[in-house]
Amino acid sequence: MARAAREVDLVVVGAGPAGASAATVAAARGLRVALIDRARFPRDKLCGGLVSGRAHGYLTEVFGTLPEGLFHPVRKVRLALGEVPLGLIAEAPLMRMTMRRDFDAALIERAEAAGAQLAVGARVAGIEAGADGCRLRLADGTTLLAPLLIGADGVNSAVARALLGRAHDPARIGFALEVEAPVQHDRDALEIDLGAADWGYGWVFPKARSLTVGVGGVAARNPDMKARLAAYLRRHGIDPAAMRIKGHHLPFGDFKRRPGRGRVLLAGDAAGLVDPITGEGIAWAVRSGALASNVAADALTRGVPATALAAYRAALTPVHVEMRRARFLRGLIFAAPLRGRFAGALARNPQMQRRYLALLNGDLDYADIGPARVLRVVGRMLRAGGAARATARSGG
Ligand SMILES: Cc1cc2nc3c(=O)[nH]c(=O)nc-3n(C[C@H](O)[C@H](O)[C@H](O)COP(=O)(O)OP(=O)(O)OC[C@H]3O[C@@H](n4cnc5c(N)ncnc54)[C@H](O)[C@@H]3O)c2cc1C
Repeated sequence: MARAAREVDLVVVGAGPAGASAATVAAARGLRVALIDRARFPRDKLCGGLVSGRAHGYLTEVFGTLPEGLFHPVRKVRLALGEVPLGLIAEAPLMRMTMRRDFDAALIERAEAAGAQLAVGARVAGIEAGADGCRLRLADGTTLLAPLLIGADGVNSAVARALLGRAHDPARIGFALEVEAPVQHDRDALEIDLGAADWGYGWVFPKARSLTVGVGGVAARNPDMKARLAAYLRRHGIDPAAMRIKGHHLPFGDFKRRPGRGRVLLAGDAAGLVDPITGEGIAWAVRSGALASNVAADALTRGVPATALAAYRAALTPVHVEMRRARFLRGLIFAAPLRGRFAGALARNPQMQRRYLALLNGDLDYADIGPARVLRVVGRMLRAGGAARATARSGG
């Protein structure tokens, strides 16, 4: 016998950082909110686990102070271009490394404490979203009815597929492979290798008990990602055959200009909110989840839920501006003729290193780098490349 439908003010599908933020904000605003995830927590999520300064700021706004024990602090950064070391930055901004297993569990605990009704191990069987509201059917026979629904169910979002036919354009998004390797040496420095993947990079992110080592980039430009990871691991003295390799898509460079449809709003990876250069997604997941719930609460208070999507799109404009600028810059720094020059300029120029790290850590926005500065840097890179070639030709 079918169970009776349960009415709430807001359904959030997906309890990663985007969904946990959305549910926490909604509950704090006094909404009856159901937070649904197909997984049971704690669960693993493939991720480098770098929580940037920007992410940490957004997390604190939504969840309050999180226990410092969730994070492994890192202050040194090694930069490389394949075999070529580009330098060690000994006084980088504080970067926090986390294990998503513990981190995500801590966030949903906060969502529950704020009053969200959590349902885990819950498989979505059907989503209907009409002009008068949303109906979510779960595989166990439960039906949830709500005037608004937030899809925060990640890169393969079932909500986005139900709404738009597919979650993302596979030709545009990224793919990454990662392993958790035993800690060998320096747990104080993270590494970024701009030569490990095309239109992407390789990373070694130290954690309290392991090293997260991975390569990732635009999927279509790296059909040989497995071989790239194997080479990267060997370069670090890690035997690929001894590692459990896992892969996951990243929706970078494919953000949704209209983040939803009708009564459904998409947040985090489901909305394609991953930085196309750095791959940072946690900050944008937390930010977009919080914005989605705030506009939902406003629209419900005013009795006009149908206006939530337009308000959400407007609220996301600064995030979309960042995504657009990063996508443009990505073409300049990762394109074949310029990548080596960008890396060379980075190796030579401490100010550029500081700016790169500030971007990575969210202390600097792409919007802060005006077009004039970008053109100056590209001009300098091209001139430096031309001078180096001329010197090589003249045998100097
Ligand atoms: C290899 C890799 C490395 C990365 N490294 C970093 C990094 O170092 N720093 C950083 O900031 N970002 C990083 N990212 C990006 C970051 O992991 C994501 O952007 C972030 O997790 C997005 O959060 P989210 O809540 O939108 O989605 P997710 O974290 O993917 O959470 C989605 C949730 O939805 C649930 N779900 C999925 N489908 C359904 C369904 N049908 N029904 C119910 N529930 C469902 C899932 O179980 C999951 O709990 C990395 C990504 C990858 C792949």
